[in-house]
Amino acid sequence: MANDLKGQVMHLMAGNISCQELADLITEYLEGSLTFSERIRFQIHLGFCVGCRNYLNQMKTTIRTLGKLPSEPMPTEVREELLKRFRTWKKG
Ligand SMILES: [Zn+2]
Repeated sequence: MANDLKGQVMHLMAGNISCQELADLITEYLEGSLTFSERIRFQIHLGFCVGCRNYLNQMKTTIRTLGKLPSEPMPTEVREELLKRFRTWKKG
């Protein structure tokens, strides 16, 4: 019961943004494409929700990690085509 009330208060404080909604907005937040009011609600939610703060930090880390990798691995078809040409060339 006490937890329910606490949950309701937190819900109001968050401007009716839920953890799920925050997760949906997180990419737009990181891209900086949220509206002003969305950003405020997002940040208020982060202010009290440790779970979402951790989630956001994980997202940032993931993006940094991905940023260091090649943008795309070589598609299988391309690799197979190259191998095929190589084999053909060897035969010829
Ligand atoms: Zn949350």
